[in-house]
Parts: sequence; C-alpha cells; structure tokens
Amino acid sequence: MAHTLPALPYAFSALEPHIDALTMEIHSQRHHKAYVDNLNKALESAPDHAGKDIVSLLRDIKSVPEGIRQAVINNGGGHHNHALFWEIMAPNAGGEPTGAVGDAIKAAFGDFAKFKDTFKQNALTQFGSGWSWLVWDPAKTAVAAIKLPNQNSPLMDGLVPLLGVDVWEHAYYLKYQNKRADYVDAWWNVVNWKKVEELLANAKK
Ligand code: MN
Repeated sequence: MAHTLPALPYAFSALEPHIDALTMEIHSQRHHKAYVDNLNKALESAPDHAGKDIVSLLRDIKSVPEGIRQAVINNGGGHHNHALFWEIMAPNAGGEPTGAVGDAIKAAFGDFAKFKDTFKQNALTQFGSGWSWLVWDPAKTAVAAIKLPNQNSPLMDGLVPLLGVDVWEHAYYLKYQNKRADYVDAWWNVVNWKKVEELLANAKK
C-alpha cells in the first residue's frame, strides 16, 4: 500500500503568529508531499518493502536494498519526521511538560530550562539542514537530546523520536529569514506536550 500524505490536524493558520499559515501550507502540501511521492517512487522497485509501515521501514533500514536505501532514508525519513512534526505542534499549546515527560526530562537534564537550552543549542549548531530531537533511548531507559542532519530519522539508530524541531530553512525562512534562533524560541509556544506524553508512553511499551 502506498504511503499517503496525512491531513494536518488543524488549519494552516492555527499556529499563528508563531508559525505563519503560508509556511505551514507550503511545508505540508509541497515539501512533505514530495517526500511521500518520492518514497513511493523509490519503493516501486522493492515490492517486499513497499507494504511495510513507515516505522518498520526506518527501524530496519539496513534490510532495504542498497540501490534505493539513501532515497528511503531521505524521503521515508522526511515523511515520518514531518508526520510527527504536525502532531507534536498544536494551537494553544506550549508551556512546561508535567507527568511522565516532565519527570523524564528532569531525570536526564536536571530541569526543564536546561533541557530547553540543550535542545536549542542542538537546533542552532546543526550546520545546514536537519533536526533537533528529544528521543527515548530504550537501551538507557531515558530521554536524550540529539541533532541529526537532513531527514535522518532517530528510528534508524534504535531511538524513538518524541519531539523534534525542523531547522531546514523551508521551515522558517518566510517569517524568520536567517534568524533560526527566533524561530526556535517562538516554536516552544506551539509544542503539544500531550502528544509527546502519548509518544513516550508508547515508546516505553
Ligand atoms: Mn521540513
């Protein structure tokens, strides 16, 4: 079954003024769509892998034929990263996480402010395109902050992505131009901690 572009769970304008409507529309309808289309195209030559769900495909990336592996990393990673990105943002969101996520962040970083700092530094020091991530590390049974280039998915390293900020220029250039730090600062206002809580609970299962 072909991979499909998910509909946003809110209007393009829902994250204003932090993320503008035009950026949301172009980002989801053109950038994300291109990842989905190119993933399906790449998988045409690998029917054994075409039926796999996106998480299994990325977790088991080494089993993907070498000829299309990089295309699956780029476009499959792009598809999954963006599908997650739309879900971990919401209008009337932000603030500080409580519950299991708040506890896991405190255990790993000391407090929320230190986590925010580390996560932002990762976002700002990712040279060129990529993502800053909060992940669940099953081996350490703890959360961790990492950065990854391009559309590389944490799933390929055995990690479970819980929260990620897209720092490709297409994610912020229309409104923030070169000011990536301002974009990241504003982005905290749209973080959907309820969804992150759900993802952490699933990751621990
Ligand atoms: Mn993007």
